[in-house]
Amino acid sequence: MVKKIINAKVLDVDTGTHTLSSVYVDEGKVSQIIKQDSMIVEDADLDLSGKFLSPGFIDTHSHLVMYSNFRRQLNCSPENVTSIEDIISQFKERKDEILRDGWLRGYGYNEFELKEQRHPNRFDLDRVSTDIPIYIQHSSAHMGAVNTKALEIMGLALDSEDPEGGFFERDEDGLVNGVLFEFPALDLAKAVLPEIDAETLSDDIKGGVKDYQSRGITSASEMCVGLLNGINDYKAALKYLEGPQNFRIRFAIDYKLLLNDPLFKGEDAHSLREKFEELSKGYSTLAGAKFFNDGSIQLHTASLREPYYDGTPSPKTQFAFVELKELFIHFQDLGYPLITHANGDQAGEDVIKAYIETKDHKQTDIKHRVEHLQIASREDIKLMTENNIGGSFFINHIYYFGDIHKSKFLGPERVKHLEPVKTAEEEGMTFTIHSDCPVTDISPLSSIRFAVERQTRNGDTLGDEEKLSRLEAYKKMTIDAAKLNGTEDTEGSITVGKYADFVVLDDNPFTDGCELSDELVLMTMVNGDIVYEK
Ligand SMILES: [Zn+2]
Repeated sequence: MVKKIINAKVLDVDTGTHTLSSVYVDEGKVSQIIKQDSMIVEDADLDLSGKFLSPGFIDTHSHLVMYSNFRRQLNCSPENVTSIEDIISQFKERKDEILRDGWLRGYGYNEFELKEQRHPNRFDLDRVSTDIPIYIQHSSAHMGAVNTKALEIMGLALDSEDPEGGFFERDEDGLVNGVLFEFPALDLAKAVLPEIDAETLSDDIKGGVKDYQSRGITSASEMCVGLLNGINDYKAALKYLEGPQNFRIRFAIDYKLLLNDPLFKGEDAHSLREKFEELSKGYSTLAGAKFFNDGSIQLHTASLREPYYDGTPSPKTQFAFVELKELFIHFQDLGYPLITHANGDQAGEDVIKAYIETKDHKQTDIKHRVEHLQIASREDIKLMTENNIGGSFFINHIYYFGDIHKSKFLGPERVKHLEPVKTAEEEGMTFTIHSDCPVTDISPLSSIRFAVERQTRNGDTLGDEEKLSRLEAYKKMTIDAAKLNGTEDTEGSITVGKYADFVVLDDNPFTDGCELSDELVLMTMVNGDIVYEK
């Protein structure tokens, strides 16, 4: 454990300044910060020789459990593949290595980033194998594709009708071609995927945590226990927390699991919070109950107030308004903070109104949250601010999906306010920015850069008026994230009494010339323990 750090340029995330200092750590917390006039030579556990000491990054919306498992499948994201041909050849090449429980699995493809500009289908995947079932998941996690063997195992006839709330892509003859849209269709595949047992998954989590730490993250939010593998996500999380801890995680749990799984019978938010905190010796806790009120803009499944730019009409929200209110009342009565996915502005509006109309049932000081909020209006944001509702913007969409949102889904006007972070800043809303990893890459410094530059992959800039300053954006990954979580007394800045959760940076992130990327991360510390070193 590091107890004394010298020659650190300590970043102040309130003012954007830095001060050369010695930092003392006692029992995992900052006990003293002493200003230095110049570099010193003294006995110390760590001499940073003038490198920058930042509070550790706080991720407020990602899927650590899913990511931890996916990193052991074929990575079909644009970082690793460029075409469907590429997916096929990598699967063939690495078959033996990737095969797990009789299935081949991949994750993260995005049809717009594939040379063929379409989804891979069963005819493509059958070229990898006709005996081994194959499942690959779209980057949105709301859709996927399977080969013919998998369809067989699913018991899905090629002339099946679409399920309520989802649909199958079809070939020229109208037959199912293996591409599955939205959870009602996707769940048919998920139902036959081999269960990932809790033991294996808890091991996977250890690997995922290491990756997060290498990006400077000291505290993460798992935004849907149950999304990967149902109740085994929960069992794996508990198993992981039984081991030695060096990372903080807040767990949001799928409301359907909470409602239906016998393991949650008799539990409420209070008892679950206690369970997480006791098991993890204070490192982890409950974030809340998680709901989804729509899908994704890039799949035409987000619920928008205006039709899509390409003329596609907007789908309805996932829940009818009355149903949403009933669910919110039920879970607030059990003490849960509420966390609801709403990519589209219609989906968001309903959630905000349902929070407001049921607010007498709220029992917790932690803010209810709306997630993604990609095209929320100033009025939506005002309502949230006035009613103490927090939120997080899916800022990585600017870079990864901004071009296609401009040309196809939202059009040139709406994308100017895609992820309206400056509007939210001006209105004084409590909010953060996120990657939704594994939907996009986990990298706090990149997310900060996207909020500052608003540049797309093709180099377009979307909405100068919504740019945040470097300091404003940096706060979203540190002190403002702590405010959203209700943990600003213990993390988010380098302050006496707070956890000694730090990231050492190679350069000053507040200076215009400094390129904001993971390259800056030299070391990560949690409770004064070095958990990553470059
Ligand atoms: Zn998410």
